[in-house]
Amino acid sequence: MGNKAYKDLHISLGLCVDCSERALPDNIRCIKHKTIHNSFMVKYMRDLKKKRNREGKCSDCGIGLDPDIDNGYVRCQNCREELYFVGV
Ligand SMILES: [Zn+2]
Ligand SMILES: [Zn+2]
Repeated sequence: MGNKAYKDLHISLGLCVDCSERALPDNIRCIKHKTIHNSFMVKYMRDLKKKRNREGKCSDCGIGLDPDIDNGYVRCQNCREELYFVGV
């Protein structure tokens, strides 16, 4: 992991970046690794949101919440108004 050229090569050949099986159409991973990656990401995001809630941070972007503006919310004003950038 972390070898960008290797990853780019796999992507350009339509191969999974985690093994070398054929990737799913419009995806960078094969069905097996896509499933693994998705469940990992779901768990990761859930833990991250819990952690941010505990720390009084926006559960989506992680910036500190304002006790006046964001009182009672788990997301900051930007995220509530959906102005945030959705990373892919
Ligand atoms: Zn794979
Ligand atoms: Zn936010």
